[in-house]
Amino acid sequence: MKVLVSGGAGYIGSIVVEQLIQQGERVVVFDNLSLGHREAVHPEAKFVHADLNDRIAIDQAMKQHQPDAVMHFAAYSLVGESMKFPFQYLGENVTNFLNLLESMVAHDVKKIILSSTANLFDDPERMPIDESERIVPGSPYGESKFICERMLHWLDQIHDLRFAALRYFNAAGASTERGEDHTPELHLIPIVLQVALGQRERVSMFGGDYDTPDGTCVRDYIHVLDLAQAHILALQALDQGSRTYNLGNGQGFSVKQVIETAREITGHAIPADIVDRRPGDPATLVAGSSKIRDELGWRPAYPDLQAIVETAWQWHQSHPQGYATPS
Ligand code: UDP
Repeated sequence: MKVLVSGGAGYIGSIVVEQLIQQGERVVVFDNLSLGHREAVHPEAKFVHADLNDRIAIDQAMKQHQPDAVMHFAAYSLVGESMKFPFQYLGENVTNFLNLLESMVAHDVKKIILSSTANLFDDPERMPIDESERIVPGSPYGESKFICERMLHWLDQIHDLRFAALRYFNAAGASTERGEDHTPELHLIPIVLQVALGQRERVSMFGGDYDTPDGTCVRDYIHVLDLAQAHILALQALDQGSRTYNLGNGQGFSVKQVIETAREITGHAIPADIVDRRPGDPATLVAGSSKIRDELGWRPAYPDLQAIVETAWQWHQSHPQGYATPS
């Protein structure tokens, strides 16, 4: 199968590309490199340096490479940023996806996997959060992904486009060669590991008075290689119809637990202080993933936090400047 991967130079996209290639698929990466890294693109993938706001460039890529399926990662994905710059999200995230879908329909490409998000569930009635939970987007980012999911719903009906929407909880960890490298870095695990590498003095824990066992926020960290496997399984299942899954480990870990685990793994004291809450952070987000387990037989290979932080630590040690590290 040939898969066109938008955002295949980014953190999750590049690792899904690596896994697709390891499993014998052919891959075309479509990325504008605004947030991704050329070095992250697997050498066996074809690379198209272009923007999803350029419908002609998408059409050219579809015509030249004739993919059987698309995986769509290329998007802005920060909750806080979306509260400051809503048009990037409600505008670009949405119209870029629309361009991609229009081009797919024009070129008769009938399968797509969408990166969606746990930010659809800002006010969950039950924990863990399964697919029956009501949708309450927590930000323009979440809203943009909800709109993308709704587009897929209609294109399935009207154009027989089969889709899987995968709502990630907290992607974390690394493969041997690829990991998390954002500028600026805002995610907890890479920040904690930057302290262990001596690149930051300390870590701020956003809020210590949440209604959780230790007062810090609880999140469901899922290893990026397990996420990648879920994409591949979902793609294989599309012939049996479209589907939507929540994707996490089903276990929650607090900010304090993450820092404590990183201390054990790195042997560094990792100084940490409680500071004010970060606006928009719910106390607890844990995924109910039994649907994907039952329907696709997906099983996380790295369910425990130890292994997730360990693989991230190995990558950060071998890439202290991220992809800019001289080889
Ligand atoms: N967090 C923190 N300090 C940081 C970065 C994050 O305490 O410097 C907390 C954040 O409030 C959240 C958890 O760590 O409860 C995970 O945050 P991250 O940004 O990694 O992912 P998110 O849950 O926002 O997708």
